Amino acid sequence: MKLIDGKACAAAMRAELKEKIDKLDRKPGLAVVIVGEDAASKIYVRNKIKACNELGIRSYSYELPADCTQSALEELLDALAADKQIDGILLQLPLPKGMDAESAISHIPVDKDVDGFSTYNLGRLLQRKEKIVACTPFGIMKMFEREGISLSGKHAVVIGRSETVGKPMAMLLLNANATVTICHSKTQNLANICKTADILVAAVGKAKFITADMVKEGAVVIDVGMNRDENGKLCGDVDFENVKEHTSYITPVPGGVGPMTITMLMYNTYVAACKE
Ligand code: NAP
Repeated sequence: MKLIDGKACAAAMRAELKEKIDKLDRKPGLAVVIVGEDAASKIYVRNKIKACNELGIRSYSYELPADCTQSALEELLDALAADKQIDGILLQLPLPKGMDAESAISHIPVDKDVDGFSTYNLGRLLQRKEKIVACTPFGIMKMFEREGISLSGKHAVVIGRSETVGKPMAMLLLNANATVTICHSKTQNLANICKTADILVAAVGKAKFITADMVKEGAVVIDVGMNRDENGKLCGDVDFENVKEHTSYITPVPGGVGPMTITMLMYNTYVAACKE
């Protein structure tokens, strides 16, 4: 078993990225918009701004109250869309109940959509003509690349079909010539399907959901989940302690997929800034 060290992978990528950013005359600018008081979202935003500062990306943070109107949010996004100093716009999800994320995202121009969540960028991925790719699945692909894990012809099972993680992950794996199965809450015989996976990506949001009996000997296991266990400790979707010995590669939580997600946001912002 080899642990895929997301922190080390992210540090190496960030060092390369910093060198590139240092050479730019105009530093990339990222606007981060958060609506409401969600504690987890606030931590994510803080970490994203910290990463910007480390890499020399200008960051602008906008905090709107939970009771702000849809039109107030969309007016802000329109203003940021028109602002030449802003290369990337990140709208932290989820939005408070009652707000329409899809409508809000449609106010982010596709070339500033550094999260890759717009209909256009998702469509490009579907057409195998990726422009800006969603940060979490993109980061996982970079980890495969850095670890030299081949995907072509492999059976990849993705558990989860969200537009932000599961679906783009499945599409990237398909585009890399894996044979892909997507599972979700209505999937029957989930354990049996997982057991046939050479590459298993868990993006479910349920603590320790993937148990050792669901994992094929020697599989590569990627844990996207960010959950709290019964003691309030951060844990993934995979029962790490019991699963790890059965794998060839596995990502830990914390220190696996998470650091790469933020790194790919920085990367996408850099790429957006270079497209003049
Ligand atoms: P989500 O939108 O809630 O999607 C969860 C998916 O899991 C859904 O497709 C759901 O199926 C499926 N699912 C739920 N229960 C299941 C079950 N019993 N069997 C099989 N599938 C089941 O979540 P998400 O946004 O994709 O995020 C997933 C997890 O990743 C969360 O823990 C989140 O915090 C974490 N995350 C981590 C990062 C990172 O950087 N590390 C980034 C993003 C997300 P249905 O579609 O049928 O409901």
